[in-house]
Amino acid sequence: MKVAIVKETAPYERRVALVPEVIGKLTAAGHEVLLQAGAGDGASIPDADYTAAGVKVVAEDALYAEADVVLRVQKPTPEEVGKLRTGQVVMGLLQPLIDPQNAQALAAAGVTSVSLDTLPRTLSRAQTMDALSSQANVGGYKAVIIAADAYGRYFPLLTTAAGTAKPANVLILGVGVAGLQAIATAKRLGAVVKAYDVRSETKEQAESLGAQFLKLESVADATGSGGYARELTDDEKSAQQAELNKHISSMDVVITTAQVPGRRPPLLVTADAVRSMKAGSVIVDMAASALGGNVELSVPDDTTATDNGVTIIAPTNLPATMPAGASGFYARNISALLTHFIKDGEMTFDFDDEITVGTVITHDGKVVHEATAKLLSEGGAA
Ligand code: NAD
Repeated sequence: MKVAIVKETAPYERRVALVPEVIGKLTAAGHEVLLQAGAGDGASIPDADYTAAGVKVVAEDALYAEADVVLRVQKPTPEEVGKLRTGQVVMGLLQPLIDPQNAQALAAAGVTSVSLDTLPRTLSRAQTMDALSSQANVGGYKAVIIAADAYGRYFPLLTTAAGTAKPANVLILGVGVAGLQAIATAKRLGAVVKAYDVRSETKEQAESLGAQFLKLESVADATGSGGYARELTDDEKSAQQAELNKHISSMDVVITTAQVPGRRPPLLVTADAVRSMKAGSVIVDMAASALGGNVELSVPDDTTATDNGVTIIAPTNLPATMPAGASGFYARNISALLTHFIKDGEMTFDFDDEITVGTVITHDGKVVHEATAKLLSEGGAA
């Protein structure tokens, strides 16, 4: 089989779907790996490194003509969907629940599409394929690094001949994969870390990393299904914001990572809360997107300086800013999922398997992924 790595075209995307370290397993199993020339440039992986790992470097047209499976990070643009042909397989973070029309176009083109972001994440055998976790981990780390960079003081307690620097007070809102890594990173930098989440099981996880867990009196446990949070009711939301406001005003750095699957990210840091913060404080809104974020005043992919001297940073693709590290993890995830589908040297889709049902979005000219098909029948996106 010919497995191809395309060069990403989404703005600011610097990751690449496979790195040279994972190629050996595929070639040892008798597959040929093709690379679109320059696909690794954004992650500082030269074509020569791929060639040394046994990859054939080709131009884009040859890649689409020859490939059985096309591996990518981001979903293909409409123009790239047009380059795929019937029977070809495309795999990536295709976001079918955000852009179901893209899935419809892939189905119409007769392409089998496999999306890593719809993987059932509670299956332990799928853990090595979990790109949402691996990329959230990178994001949580990088969010703390950019917060520390933007903060005009020290994170650690520092005692020097020139005086003592107090440690930064850091609050992490949302203790999922990204939040846990943010806690660990802020602790390593020496900050005093507090954390909060609506799922009560996160208390022990946050504390095991050295954070103090904030318990809000006004909001009960909001654990939903599949390890995720449920959306709060309107009353719970306002009570949560009011109670959080009191804590936010005394923080130097706030990092927000809260998400509810299929819903707008919850608003956790209101404009009033930002106005109550000290000049020099920094907020990183990891949930920022076109749908809105966790911070009322955040502007996706922009940095906002408020009148009271607070810096709000709202990056929408942090993993792409650490492209080599993020690609290394992603490559292991996507090659594990690819290998899962290979039987007797061919891509084989067993629709009795939960991983197949969760990740295969289009097949045989149809949208076969239930949640995506439902969205299309309702005429919208999540
Ligand atoms: P996510 O990105 O959907 O959300 C991030 C965090 O935001 C979650 O912890 C969520 O509880 C929290 N949140 C949502 N609404 C909130 C609100 N109003 N206020 C405060 N916090 C709020 O979640 P994720 O990081 O992708 O994963 C969530 C959970 O799934 C984690 O417990 C993770 O460990 C688990 N998970 C399990 C497996 C597995 O079992 N193999 C794999 C991956 C993830």
